[in-house]
Amino acid sequence: MTLVINFSGGKDSCAMLAYLCERYPDMPKRVVFADTGWEHPGTEQWCRDMVRQISGLELDVCRNPNKTLLTMAERRGKFPGMQTRQCTSDLKRGPIETWIRRNVTDPVVISCMGIRSEESTGRKRLSKLRRIQQNSKRTVWQWNPIKDWTEVEVLAYLSARSIPLHPVYQHLRRFSCRVCIYMTVHDLRQVDKHDPEAVAIIDGIEQQIGFTMFQGGPIRDVIAGRTKGQTELFDPSNDPAQCV
Ligand code: SF4
Repeated sequence: MTLVINFSGGKDSCAMLAYLCERYPDMPKRVVFADTGWEHPGTEQWCRDMVRQISGLELDVCRNPNKTLLTMAERRGKFPGMQTRQCTSDLKRGPIETWIRRNVTDPVVISCMGIRSEESTGRKRLSKLRRIQQNSKRTVWQWNPIKDWTEVEVLAYLSARSIPLHPVYQHLRRFSCRVCIYMTVHDLRQVDKHDPEAVAIIDGIEQQIGFTMFQGGPIRDVIAGRTKGQTELFDPSNDPAQCV
């Protein structure tokens, strides 16, 4: 049995990795990060360093060889939306499933994700353990080992082990793509302040394809408060299924 630990660089991933290493020190483990091509600058190196610090393991990085989040939007003429999250399926789930097929020979694979019930009603509904693939060669289970942890518990767990948070948490509540389809107006204003280049890139693509990333309207109008419809503040009931 091999644990494949899905590592995003966020606080929940870090806590899950530390927990699994402490709880199952002798179980074979691989740690994998799916790069969407639209990550915060320096994310891959930060993840490599953190994984080494927490677990002593090397991080594997996978990506879709044919597209990034930005080229996907350019080619399709539209951004992924909350109902059709092609970004998650094509840039995260798909590449990780392919990576497991090619790199893990163990017939039983436990794919571990740092999903927590507290984050959204959609995540609350997910089962803690479920079989996601079975064929003659292997069985793959998805396990959400910290599903019942609260954010307070995650932060306390990390703090007790002197595991730092990614610097992006100083201004954002989540670790996601540089600009994510789930961002609120508040998040977008924070990105505009701390990473204006990311806003300029999305603005440029919106103008190029004539399609906006957010339902409320062009990103610059959302940030300026010139639109209606974009969520002002985080509301778990508005966040049925995040990036999994
Ligand atoms: S973080 Fe957001 S934009 Fe990036 S892949 Fe996930 S849902 Fe899509």
